[in-house]
Amino acid sequence: MAIGVEEKSARSESKDYARYSFWLETAGEELVPRPSLEGPMEADVAVLGAGFTGLWTAYYLLCNEPSLRVVVLEGEISGFGASGRNGAWCGPGFPVTPGELARRYGQEAARELILEMHNAVREVGRVVEVEAIDARYFRSGLMRVARGSSQLPGLQATHEAYRALGLEDDYRMLNAEETSRRVRITDARGALYSPHCATVHPARLVRGLARAVERLGGTIFERSPVTSYETGGDPRLVTARGEVRARTLVLAGEAYLTRFRELRRQLLPVYSLIVLTEPLSETRWAEIGWEGRECVSSNRYTVDYLSRTADGRILFGGRGAPYHFGSRVKDEYDRHGPTHDLLRRTAKEWFPALEGARFTHAWGGPLGVPRDWMPTMSYDPASGVATARGYTGQGVATANLSGRTLADLIQGRDTPIVRLPTVNHEPRLWEPEPLRWLGARYVQRGLMKVDDHAERTGEPPTGKTLAERLARH
Ligand SMILES: Cc1cc2nc3c(=O)[nH]c(=O)nc-3n(C[C@H](O)[C@H](O)[C@H](O)COP(=O)(O)OP(=O)(O)OC[C@H]3O[C@@H](n4cnc5c(N)ncnc54)[C@H](O)[C@@H]3O)c2cc1C
Repeated sequence: MAIGVEEKSARSESKDYARYSFWLETAGEELVPRPSLEGPMEADVAVLGAGFTGLWTAYYLLCNEPSLRVVVLEGEISGFGASGRNGAWCGPGFPVTPGELARRYGQEAARELILEMHNAVREVGRVVEVEAIDARYFRSGLMRVARGSSQLPGLQATHEAYRALGLEDDYRMLNAEETSRRVRITDARGALYSPHCATVHPARLVRGLARAVERLGGTIFERSPVTSYETGGDPRLVTARGEVRARTLVLAGEAYLTRFRELRRQLLPVYSLIVLTEPLSETRWAEIGWEGRECVSSNRYTVDYLSRTADGRILFGGRGAPYHFGSRVKDEYDRHGPTHDLLRRTAKEWFPALEGARFTHAWGGPLGVPRDWMPTMSYDPASGVATARGYTGQGVATANLSGRTLADLIQGRDTPIVRLPTVNHEPRLWEPEPLRWLGARYVQRGLMKVDDHAERTGEPPTGKTLAERLARH
């Protein structure tokens, strides 16, 4: 079956890649694209996308079987997508909550999956070391903070869900004082702490990984957008100037996959946006604390995520930028003035010490949300297609698990990870337009209102509003 992209934006012009994120700007190298694919080629495995998913898959395939011919086709440059733009968390977070995982798949499977996520965080650190990737990997720990009394019950419920899975040593509650000993955030009433999290320099990690893949014998073509692919008897990835025939295709384009009509309803592309301060003075840091550089978020529905960079800046990210009709993904959506302004204001509310500090960078990017929020890691030998996607903004460590899982599936290894509930998971499709747009916008706005109401009144969300019920799939 032949499947093609529809949108012109799948074509690649020359771009100033450094301006897509602070991370790409400080990747420590000129972002000169690798050669493009010119003409036909044969391979064993052809990968669409040089982000974490595509590159980890290529990496493990080649580690397991050095003679394998692996070719990666990237539409822009390695790390162009979310992998080169994210919030720097390499964490165990999973889009489906621990309680919901247990409800859907049972306690044992939920526990296995969470433990595999802890393992993925460690595994990224291991590879960074053996491959000498200067990714600034730092075991920082993770704090989900209750800002205001309304967020405390939700946090306690999450803690209880971890405890029910026997993970109480891995996730523990901190009271307000213990929280502020780590980081001083206004109105923080407590936090859920886990040591299983690291921060990384994502662009250095993804680009270092690309070089590791090449060292192992893989080939990466850049500025080679795949315009269509063929599955079944003669699988191949097709670009404007060439094609790669291979036994197996790996579709690792996350949110961008929605540009293929057949995949459009598999994921909802949602934009996550980030603002970044200048490096802060010692005086400001003395007020804020945060020596442990933990990854920090609050317990709002309208996700926020923070990290402290190695060079002493605060990164403040959040969702809330509007969904675009037809699941459109375009560079111009990476920046959204009102959302970036809100993030800057919120950062100052969290940290009054930021008054007068400069925000030097603002960027964003698309992430893929499946209908049931459960990532998929799948391989179908009949069609020759493997794919991993749908991380809902928690894909840095998860993509490592995807890479190992897809490699095991493709190479036929019966390992514990190929029995996780993510494997061959098929989420329900998103609704067709205009329902998708109406629903997504309604839920986005509704959840924001629920969060604001909870903060104003100190009352926790009821979980019963229409937006909350719709968001629960
Ligand atoms: C602003 C932001 C902040 C985030 N923060 C965090 C965080 O702190 N922690 C966390 O765990 N996760 C975070 N995420 C999510 C995480 O970054 C992603 O889940 C992860 O990077 C996904 O990796 P990927 O390789 O699957 O996709 P991507 O990194 O998006 O890579 C897909 C690649 O495929 C290429 N591609 C697409 N279509 C084609 C085509 N037709 N032909 C060829 N190439 C193509 C793209 O150019 C791109 O390079 C964030 C995401 C965003 C956008």
